Amino acid sequence: MAEKPRFYDAKLSKIVSLTSTVKHFVLDYDRGADTSFIAGQFMMIHLEKEGRPHKKPYSIASSPSLAASKNQIELCIKLVEGGYVSNYFFGLKEGDILHTSLPYGVFTVREPWVKNLIFVGTGTGIAPLRGMIQKLYENGCDKDIWLIFGNRYETDILYDAEWQALVKQHKNFHYVPTVSRGKNWTGETAYVQEIVKKQFAGQTEGLDFYGCGLVPMCQQLKAALLEMTMPKERIHFEQFT
Ligand SMILES: Cc1cc2nc3c(=O)[nH]c(=O)nc-3n(C[C@H](O)[C@H](O)[C@H](O)COP(=O)(O)OP(=O)(O)OC[C@H]3O[C@@H](n4cnc5c(N)ncnc54)[C@H](O)[C@@H]3O)c2cc1C
Repeated sequence: MAEKPRFYDAKLSKIVSLTSTVKHFVLDYDRGADTSFIAGQFMMIHLEKEGRPHKKPYSIASSPSLAASKNQIELCIKLVEGGYVSNYFFGLKEGDILHTSLPYGVFTVREPWVKNLIFVGTGTGIAPLRGMIQKLYENGCDKDIWLIFGNRYETDILYDAEWQALVKQHKNFHYVPTVSRGKNWTGETAYVQEIVKKQFAGQTEGLDFYGCGLVPMCQQLKAALLEMTMPKERIHFEQFT
C-alpha cells in the first residue's frame, strides 16, 4: 500500500542555474520533519492558482541519504514557457518557503539487484535517475549501471561533471550522453531509444530498464524495448505529463 504523504514547509537554501532553462533547487527541512522516501520517488509542491489550491509533482533529484543526514531534498526544474508552477519556481530566491508533501510514486529500483541496471533519461528526466544512481553507489551496487542521457545541445547535459566523476570512480558505470543537435559535439547523436537498440540488441536477460522524460520519449523507448522482446516486467517508467 502507498505510504501516506507527509506535509511540511521547506526553506530554499540554494538555487543553482544549470542551463538557461533549468535550475537546481536545494530544500531544507526542519529537523523534526520526516523526509524519508525511496530513491526515484517524487514530491508535490503546493501553491495557489487563481485563489484555489494547486499542486504539481516534481521528482526528487537527490538520494534519501541526503534527507536522512541533512534534512535536504534537491529538485531539478525546467522552465516551461507559459507554465504556471515552473515560472513560479524561477521567480523564487534563496530563503523563500515552499509548501511540500512527500513521498509519492512507485518509480524505484527493484531490489535486490539481480540484474544490470539501464537508466535512460532526457532533459530533466534525469532528476529521479540521479537520486537512484547516487543511492545505488552508496549501497555498494556491484551490477553494471548504464546511464543513457539524451539532450538537444551539449550545453543542456545536466550534472555532466557528476557523471564523468562516476565514470572515473566506478568501473561498472557506463555513461552515454547523446546530443541530437550538437554544435561541436563528437559523441553519440542518435535518440536514446536507438542507442538502447544498438547497445542491447539480442540481450533479453539480466537487464532492468528505468526510463524517465516527457511522454513521447517514454512511449518511443517502450516501443523499442518491446520490439526487442524485453520482458514487460523489466521495464519501468516515470512520465513527465
Ligand atoms: C511524476 C512527475 C514528476 C515530474 N518531475 C519533474 C521534474 O523533476 N522536473 C521538471 O522540470 N518537471 C517535472 N515534471 C513536470 C512538472 O510536474 C510540470 O508539469 C512542469 O513543471 C510544468 O508545469 P507548469 O505549471 O509550469 O506548466 P503548466 O501551467 O501546467 O503548463 C503550461 C503549458 O506547458 C505545457 N507543458 C507542461 N509541461 C511541459 C513540459 N515539461 N515541457 C514542455 N511543455 C510542457 C502544457 O501542455 C501547457 O500547454 C514531473 C511530472 C510528473 C508527472
